[in-house]
Parts: sequence; structure tokens; C-alpha cells
Amino acid sequence: MQYSLHSNSHSSDVLIIGGGLGGLTAALHLAKAGVQVRVLEKEAYPRHKVCGEYVSNEVLPYLKTLGVDPVAAGATHLQRCLLSAESGRSVEAPLPLGGFGLSRYRLDQLLFEAVLAAGGKVEFAEVTDVQTDTECTQVHTRRSGTYRARFVIGAYGKRSRLDKKLNRAFIREKTPYLAAKAHYTGAFPEDLVALYCFPGGYCGVSKVEEGRINVCYLAHQRTFRSYQNLAQYEQAVLYQNPELKAILTRLTPVFERPLTISQISFAPKRQAHDQLLLVGDAAGMIHPLCGNGMGMAIAGARLLAKNMLTCLDQPDFQQAHLAEGYSKDWQAAFQHRLNFGRLFNALFYRPTYFEWAVKGLSYLPWALPFFVRQTHGQPILEDE
Ligand SMILES: Cc1cc2nc3c(=O)[nH]c(=O)nc-3n(C[C@H](O)[C@H](O)[C@H](O)COP(=O)(O)OP(=O)(O)OC[C@H]3O[C@@H](n4cnc5c(N)ncnc54)[C@H](O)[C@@H]3O)c2cc1C
Repeated sequence: MQYSLHSNSHSSDVLIIGGGLGGLTAALHLAKAGVQVRVLEKEAYPRHKVCGEYVSNEVLPYLKTLGVDPVAAGATHLQRCLLSAESGRSVEAPLPLGGFGLSRYRLDQLLFEAVLAAGGKVEFAEVTDVQTDTECTQVHTRRSGTYRARFVIGAYGKRSRLDKKLNRAFIREKTPYLAAKAHYTGAFPEDLVALYCFPGGYCGVSKVEEGRINVCYLAHQRTFRSYQNLAQYEQAVLYQNPELKAILTRLTPVFERPLTISQISFAPKRQAHDQLLLVGDAAGMIHPLCGNGMGMAIAGARLLAKNMLTCLDQPDFQQAHLAEGYSKDWQAAFQHRLNFGRLFNALFYRPTYFEWAVKGLSYLPWALPFFVRQTHGQPILEDE
């Protein structure tokens, strides 16, 4: 079906700010349904991103219905998870749904190509402001002028200058977390996603395509202060976990230096701001140790696209109803995971309790898969 309202070089039915997983998935879903959709993304593809690169299989069937097949693109099958306390004591269990390992370099590129093939537009511009009037929403960019659209989706990730401009509440809170990621070659099990605790943080290790190993860690910034550089920090702090040390010391870096990001906020967010509908990390960010942020960005984009398509079928619908319906669906789908993620995170930052928890989990084989299930959803099947 064609939902044509108006489209010229700077106007479209749906404009999406940010072409990461949430933005590209929403664009793809809508473009396949015949909606004129345009994505504004500030960076070129392909590019590496700070991310653990483990994606829950809950979104695999949905991605396939959109014509995106991570497995055909070389993704690894991740079937086991391992938790390691600072002492190196660890517990291992099967991943209830399993997952796949694919670099963001490849996954975002796959989605980008699929959006173009479905007739969506992707342009490279940084959005600097969003203003709403009665007819449409105006989106201002740094160098490409102003765009207009009937619906605007904010899919610009965990933190953007735009949040400040829009005066979103969470941006005023201080954020003490930073993260680093790099790819390596060397020995690591093909089917394992492992999480190693170290003082002040945790490090995820798993395999992605072409035999590469992704190592990504998140740490409290106070633990960084006394070190000159990442290499020094890693040796002094990450290596305190003997298991992690044993792995890292036998890997060979592929990147010249790790990628880093800071000011990562897990503060509660809303899923709509004025006329802007938010998806992915812009709508709410789960602690990375849960390994479900990408799953949530993809599944959330589907919820938003479905709500939007229903509204586009009703000429007299109200924007406020769309925002309300979507926010309700979003919270029903993800609030429990977010709450559990916060609980999990609190435990990770209490090493003694975490040590006991790992010990306890090793006596209860059902317990770790149970906890994983609390932060993941059910597979999204075609006809839902
Ligand atoms: C350390 C760490 C490890 C993680 N590990 C995992 C993991 O193993 N598994 C998992 O499922 N999740 C993980 N996550 C979470 C996951 O990375 C995010 O949840 C996911 O990337 C969210 O997708 P998104 O589309 O919302 O944002 P992004 O993928 O960040 O995309 C946002 C896009 O918006 C663009 N953008 C930003 N501002 C503007 C602007 N003003 N104008 C135009 N474009 C703009 C950016 O360039 C970017 O491309 C991890 C996160 C961190 C921090």
C-alpha cells in the first residue's frame, strides 16, 4: 500500500533522526509498508561502534522477515553464557534463546542497504533542532537546511546534543560511566558470550564474523582517573580478574587503538517528547550487561512502526494518541527488563555479593538462564 502524503526533496511522511539499529529498522519496516521515509544520519557507513555485539535471537525471525539475514552475513551462533566474578570464579549456562555475534560495522551496513533497497532514503546530515507547528514538524540540520515531515522519530541513540536542545530531563543527570571496545584475533570459543567483572566495571567477550573477537567493557569513570592511558588501565584493573587476564594476554589487537565513549546514562527516559517519537536508546537504555539494548532497539522500532501504520490508516487520528499507544506498548514490552537490568547492575558493583551470587548460581543450574530470561523477550514471530 502507498501512504503518500507529500514528498519532495526536503519533506516526507516520516523522518527519522539517527540511522543506528532503531532508526534503520523503523525505516525498513515503514518503507516496506509503502511509507515515504527518510533517515538523517550524521556518520557514514560502515563504521565501528562501541558495543558488545551480542544480539539476542528474539529479533532474528523479525530481521529475516525484513529481508536482513545476519547469519548469511557471517554472524556467529552464541549458545552459552558465562559470568565471572572478580576472583575469576565463574558460572556457565546455556543461553535460553541463543543469540548471534555480528559487528556493528556489518550489521548497520546490512540494514542501511536494506533500507535503500526498500525505497527508503538515507541522507548524511547532523540534526541540530526539532520544532513543531500545527501542520508538521521541522527538523534543522547543521549543513543541509531544514526538513519537514508529518511524523518525526528520534533514533539518535543514548545521548545527543539534541537532547540538550530539547531540554530532556535525563540530560541534566551526571553520568559516571565510560566504555571501550576493540576487535582481536586469537583463541576464544565460537559459541560463548562471557562477562567478566573487574573492580569498577565489567567486560564482555564474544566472537563476531570472520573469526574476530569483540572485547567491550564498561567502567565507572572514577576507576580510570589514576591511569595515563587505556593500556595501563587494562593491565592494572581488568587484569585483576585472572580469567580475563588469561584471555586478553593471548589476543592480538586488530584495531590500532580501542574506540571509547563516555557519559553513558541509564536514567529513565520517556518515549515521546512533544511531537517526537523516540526509539532505541533515545527511548530508554538497558544496562549493557543484560546484552539486550540492540534487541530492544530493533523490537521497539517494530512497535513504533506498527503503531504508526495503524494511525496512517486513520485520516483523523491524533498525534497524542499515537504517542500514548506507542509509549504503553513500549513500557509493556521493556519496563520489566529495564528494572531487572538496574537490579543486576547494582549487584555487579558489589563484588562480595556478586561473588556469592556466582557461587550460588553454580549450585542451581536453572538460575542463570532464569535471570537471562528476565532481561530478554520472546522471539518475534512474523504474524504477531
Ligand atoms: C559498552 C556497551 C556495550 C553494549 N553491548 C551490547 C550487547 O552486547 N548487546 C546488545 O544488545 N546491546 C549492547 N549495547 C547496547 C546497544 O549498543 C544499544 O542499545 C543500541 O546500539 C541502540 O541502538 P540505537 O539505534 O538506539 O542507537 P545507535 O545504534 O547508537 O544509533 C544512533 C545513531 O544516531 C546517530 N545520531 C546521533 N545524533 C544524531 C544527530 N543529531 N543527527 C543525526 N544522527 C545522529 C548516530 O550517529 C548513530 O548512528 C551496548 C552498549 C554499550 C554502551
